[in-house]
Amino acid sequence: MLKGKTALVTGSTSGIGLGIAKALARQGANIVLNGFGDVDGPRAEVLAAGQAAGAQVAYHGADMSRAADIEDMMKYSAAQFGRVDILVNNAGIQHVASIQDFPVERWDAIIAINLTSAFHTSRLALPAMQAANWGRIINVASVHGLVGSAQKSAYVAAKHGIVGLTKVTALENAASGITCNAICPGWVLTPLVQKQVDAKAAERGISNEEAKRLLLGEKEPSMQFTTPDELGELAVFFCSPAANNVRGVAWNMDGGWAAQ
Ligand code: NAD
Repeated sequence: MLKGKTALVTGSTSGIGLGIAKALARQGANIVLNGFGDVDGPRAEVLAAGQAAGAQVAYHGADMSRAADIEDMMKYSAAQFGRVDILVNNAGIQHVASIQDFPVERWDAIIAINLTSAFHTSRLALPAMQAANWGRIINVASVHGLVGSAQKSAYVAAKHGIVGLTKVTALENAASGITCNAICPGWVLTPLVQKQVDAKAAERGISNEEAKRLLLGEKEPSMQFTTPDELGELAVFFCSPAANNVRGVAWNMDGGWAAQ
């Protein structure tokens, strides 16, 4: 379905971004990976996922807190594959502390990586999408783009912000073939959440499994983690012709978290 298209997925060396990159590669899209840590493993996973469909895979190590790096990554993506047709703004970090104790440097980093980077990638990707009259921008927000939780001020502020950016991007391009939508996951068991599970287990002196049940029980009525593969399939739907008129939504996959 996406053969001949190019998808840039930020923060795709791990977790949700990797799941989305694999799902888009399975549909034939060429993929530009981005993120820190091991690159060879994720690259091999995405290549394997897209092999039957002939997807190619490239990588750029831009730090999403740096505008100059992002500009370089966008130029690199265009040079590799012509242009970015599908932009998935996914890179994100978390820090848990009450407002009066929140390290200022962590606040700045979360706003830069979880919110401002999506402004930069979007402003740089849109001209080529507008020239082609086709594009998909998918912002990985969070259920925390819809509701708050204590101890997560920067994260909740950034995620509410990216839901707002999603609506404006959708509206500014509403009469074109470019759509912009947000995905709002509840708990997904990735390294970002495993850190919170570990902290809870240490704080309460309980096992990892008990800490996971506690985390789910506090927020998620389904008592199930959403998976990166499920989120990948939602991204594929947003890229499909059936989603041509889905514009500016914030779609939660949260086991009922925000329905309460
Ligand atoms: P993760 O830690 O598994 O992956 C984060 C990715 O972002 C990694 O590839 C990492 O290298 C990359 N990254 C971090 N800082 C970066 C930077 N400065 N520049 C470039 N890349 C950077 O986390 P995840 O859980 O897969 O989270 C992905 C997105 O999903 C985030 O935006 C997160 O807020 C969101 N989200 C996660 C959950 C969850 O439960 N895990 C729930 C809702 C939303």
